[in-house]
This record gives sequence, C-alpha cells and structure tokens, in this order.
Amino acid sequence: MISDHPTRQDTWEARDLRSVLHGFTHLGTLRDRGPVVMSRGKGVYVEDSHGKRYLEGNSGLWNMVVGFDHPELVEAACDQYRKFPAYHAFFGRVSEPTVALSEKLLEIAPVPMDKVFFTNSGSEANDTVVKMLWMINRAQGRPRRRKILSRKNAYHGVTGITASMTGKDYVGAFGLPLDDFLFADCPHYWRYAVPGESEIEYSARCARRLQAQIEAEGPDTIAGFFAEPVMGAGGVIPPPEGYFEAIQPVLRKFDIPLVADEVICGFGRTGKMWGCQTYDIEPDILVASKCLTAGYFPMGAIMVSRSVADRLDEAANEFEEFPHGFTSAGHPVGCSIALKAIDIILNGGVFDNVVNVSPYFQERIGGFASHPHIGEVRGIGLMGALELVGDKENKTPFPPEQPVAEQIANVALENGLICRPIGQAIVVAPPFIITRDQIDELFDKLQRTIEQVIGT
Ligand SMILES: *Cc1c(COP(=O)(O)O)cnc(C)c1O
Repeated sequence: MISDHPTRQDTWEARDLRSVLHGFTHLGTLRDRGPVVMSRGKGVYVEDSHGKRYLEGNSGLWNMVVGFDHPELVEAACDQYRKFPAYHAFFGRVSEPTVALSEKLLEIAPVPMDKVFFTNSGSEANDTVVKMLWMINRAQGRPRRRKILSRKNAYHGVTGITASMTGKDYVGAFGLPLDDFLFADCPHYWRYAVPGESEIEYSARCARRLQAQIEAEGPDTIAGFFAEPVMGAGGVIPPPEGYFEAIQPVLRKFDIPLVADEVICGFGRTGKMWGCQTYDIEPDILVASKCLTAGYFPMGAIMVSRSVADRLDEAANEFEEFPHGFTSAGHPVGCSIALKAIDIILNGGVFDNVVNVSPYFQERIGGFASHPHIGEVRGIGLMGALELVGDKENKTPFPPEQPVAEQIANVALENGLICRPIGQAIVVAPPFIITRDQIDELFDKLQRTIEQVIGT
C-alpha cells in the first residue's frame, strides 16, 4: 500500500484527499485506505474510478432505491429542465410540478393529511417541523410549550435543531443538544430489556417511563414527540412488539403531537408504503425525504394534518405569513423527479418487488443468527442489521481497540460489497429493485467477509 498510497499520485483519490473535507467519515480509514471515488452505476451496482464494481448494499444513503441509472428518472429531470428549469415557492408563487407532487403525497399519505411543505433535505424538514410547533404554541398563548422529545439513539438530522434531537454522543462535539431537547428511552429490546421481560412488557415499560418523564417535565411544556418508525442510523432498530400501541395513548393523553420521521421508512423500506402502516402509527405530522426522489434530487417534504395546518394558518396571522422557507425548496425539477419516482415505485413493480423479495432477504440475514459473534439479527422489509458481540452469552461488545464492524465494512469493500458499520452493527438496506440472486450475492459476500475478519 505504501508506494501506491493515494496521496502520492495524481489520481481522483489523491485529489480528493487534497481538496475534500469529508463528513461522517472514519478518519483512520480515510488516512489508511484513501477515499473511494465513484464514477457510475448500473442497477444495484456502483463502479469506482478504477472500474471496480460494488453491490451497493446500502442504496447509497438508504435513498437510491430504484438503482443508479434509472432512465425514466433521468428523462423526467431532462423534460422538466427543458420546460421550466427552476422556480421557488415563496410569495404565493409556485411551479406546476410542486402542486402536482403535493396532491400526490396527500393521496398516498398513510393517514389523512391536509397540506405539504417542501424542503431540500430531511434535516431541514425536521427543523421546519420544530419551528412550526414553536410558532403554533406561541401564537396560541402557550409559549412555554417548547420542549421537543425524541429518543436516545434517534437520528433526525444535522442542523442545530435536528442534531439536538439526535440521541448520539457525537452531538456533544458541538456543545449540543440545545436546551429544551429531551430524550425518551431507546426502544431496543435486545439491549435494554431486563431478564425475563417480554417484548410487550418492555414496550409497556417504555410507555410508563415516557409518561413519568412527561409528567416530571410538565406536560404543558412539551411541543412534540419525534420518532422514526424503525430507527435507521441508530442501527436498524425495529420497535418491539406493542411499542407504538403503548406510547401513542400517552402522547394523546397529554395532547402532544406525534411526528413520524419517515425519512428512511417512507416509500416501501419496511415492506409497506409507510413505516406508519407497518406499525399502526397515526402521526399528526409526517416527514419524508430520502426515497422521495429515489436520491436523484435533494428534497424533503412535510405533511401536516388538518388541525396542524389550521393552527399554523392562524398562527401566521400575527406576522401575515409563515416566515420560513428555503430558496430551492419545491424545485420543479425535483418535484418532477419525485412524481416519476413515486410512479415507478407504485406502478412500475418496484414496491411489488420489495414485498416479494423481503421475506427472502430476512431469511438470508436470519441465517447469521447462529454465528458465535453475532448477538442479534434484526430487521424488517429490506433493511437489516447484524449486531456483533465479543461474547454472545453476556451480549458484551468487542473492545474498542477491535473495531470489528469497521473492519468488516472495509474488507467487504475489497470483496465488492458496500455495507455500513454503525457502532458494532453491520447495516444493510439494498435498493428496492434487488433480485433474489443479488440478495444471495450480497449475503454470500458478507458471509465470506465475516469469515475473513472474525472466522466462522
Ligand atoms: C437521513 C435522515 C435525516 C436527515 O436527512 P438529510 O437529508 O441528511 O438532512 C433525518 N431523519 C432520518 C430518520 C434520517 O435517516
């Protein structure tokens, strides 16, 4: 590796290291191995600038769900660029595709929703929801009702507000969370249940503790509760049985709006169109982003219920507007791509494929449960995680000096598979178009990689 180390050459890798500042990148790996510069994609595969091919086991960042070269999405973008390449959504002006996409989203929403607001990302969408809640409460004479509840290990984004709702230690790097941001229990049964406790009992305990936390804070100080149906960047943590059934009545009792962060789950990842449908969640506000344009355009969308929309309308009176918006949000090209992506997923057989291949995907990942260093296999639909353990009996992790998940991801890359380490878990979430044979390829490669790194 020394003589051809990327920094010594005039390659894409060397140029990257001299110019690009990488976010969410393990610095040791970047130093030792250099970046991987991608140049093209085909179906579920991507190819780097040396022509090496990888099965993209994470759909990029969960989002490139119809693959990396879908001609109809490219066509939709080109058509709209030719027709009307850009416009905003301020001052009561808007472009046609923005209106059409709003209607489409309301049509396919998991519960009746009334209005749609667009952003450029999931973070901006969640950030916007918090500002909506703050504005509504202030206008209704409840300015103290500002606290935002999310959950330990949740991921809701990276802006100042949404990093404050992200229950990960690293937000401490920024001196976050801000005041007024609180965390309820992480619903990870395998890790946090006490011996002998059933999933239902554990869910009931989460709900009781949530109620106690709300009462201790003062119910009239809580503006909203945010939850991913399945925690994604927390390491693919599906809720235990009965979880949302148990916590929703607590939120309703205290009139706390439930915000479903469907940024990962939305559009089919869990095997239903929405995570809310998989888990019987009835949100007041729903946030979508990653799969909305199948990753082909930056976009986020917020759907709000009639009651939220009405209250926001009233609240806006004082300032004669909702004083909030992003220059490029509701972009006609993005909206045209999203309309096409939804059409491809719903009517082009992509969602049907998720339904068809998910059981096989779960069966194959389930095969890893017997491995002596895999403590838990979890997942739903087309998402899953393997939790690595040093000692299976006691569920103890590998020591920090043995970053096994990181090593597995690195060796997988050499083997032509992209998967992602999150803590000590390996996460896979392939594109919705993946075939049964490609699922075999994915897990055969993962199996071989794990054997290489920690043995059978
Ligand atoms: C990725 C993600 C976000 C943030 O979306 P960005 O587009 O990266 O800002 C928010 N919530 C969840 C659940 C996510 O997975």
